[in-house]
Amino acid sequence: KPMEGRISDIGPRHFGEYLPPVIKENFGKWDYHEILESGILLHVAQGGAKTYTVRAATARLMTVTHIREICEIADKFCGGFVRFTTRNNLEFQVETEEAAKELKAFLNDQKFDGGSMKFPVGGTGAGVTNIVHTQGWVHCHTPATDASGTVKATMDVVFDDFTDMKLPAPVRISMACCLNMCGAVHCSDIAILGIHRKPPIIDHEYLDNLCEIPLAVAACPTGAVRPSKVEVDGKTFKTVAIKEERCMFCGNCYTMCPSLPLSDGEGDGIALMVGGKISNRITKPAFSKVVVPFIPNEPPRWPTLTKTIKRILDTYAAEANKYERLGDWANRIGWERFFEKCDLPFTEHLIDDFRDPAYYTWRQTTQFKW
Ligand code: SF4
Ligand code: SF4
Repeated sequence: KPMEGRISDIGPRHFGEYLPPVIKENFGKWDYHEILESGILLHVAQGGAKTYTVRAATARLMTVTHIREICEIADKFCGGFVRFTTRNNLEFQVETEEAAKELKAFLNDQKFDGGSMKFPVGGTGAGVTNIVHTQGWVHCHTPATDASGTVKATMDVVFDDFTDMKLPAPVRISMACCLNMCGAVHCSDIAILGIHRKPPIIDHEYLDNLCEIPLAVAACPTGAVRPSKVEVDGKTFKTVAIKEERCMFCGNCYTMCPSLPLSDGEGDGIALMVGGKISNRITKPAFSKVVVPFIPNEPPRWPTLTKTIKRILDTYAAEANKYERLGDWANRIGWERFFEKCDLPFTEHLIDDFRDPAYYTWRQTTQFKW
């Protein structure tokens, strides 16, 4: 009874209504799964029930026409059921291996007018799956870079690793367009992080009408914002002042107060992080570390960003042992050699002063020789 206990009809319907019958019948009773080939998964339940999943990439920003097309495929092959993963992959479930292979071939055949693939199948196992990412310039107010653009440009250069599984281990790429980090950049093999480098601009004349000044003050994690008064054209305005040397350009105050924008063409860009993971397999979970402190925004194709990611990925693919995640490989060879092998300069921006173990990076470890 999926609707049991609902107290209103507001919001989406209960997810239970959307589960395919095999999932409903075996809910909580799945025994194991395996990857049969790139993009095809088999899940087996304790009672022996099987379901075959075909995973395909999506374009993330989709037209209604495109979504209708996805629904038509689900109607034709999967009894009307389809799911989106947290990484924006599509998953279609079918009953037999033959049906899964037939669906894979069908999806790989679907092309846009320009000839590029609409639903490339892959994203499983020791490869790159779709990038988990945030909203970017299209939707959010604090981005330091774009999400859809950087992700599309990156996926284009790592596409072969999406459709085959030839890397030493899975490589999870994530993207967050500001430090507030709605993405998973703290725990991904490769992470693209939008960073601001300039403090907010203060719109003194509007601030008191648009913002609750105490909220803007309280929003700042470093205590850089304080109430103030400013005279403009002979008029006195209640506003805030920002102690710039304390500002870490996080944008939290802007979240509370639209009169403190901090986007800036020169100041904004991208930091690259690597070596994080959430898996417990072989080694414990690890936080990502910053390896490139700043890459400028270069829309629409972000060439410096994508070249750097490709270089890191190719070096890892060539040098790491089988089953070794990117961070495990860097730990084994030493991060100094990681920088050398990936041809990345080590700069003073990569050394921090944080004392919390969550932020330990270079200086605190006796393993780091430079
Ligand atoms: Fe907005 Fe930052 Fe989240 Fe991007 S990461 S969607 S800019 S809050
Ligand atoms: Fe404080 Fe962050 Fe605003 Fe800077 S950007 S003033 S650190 S809240």
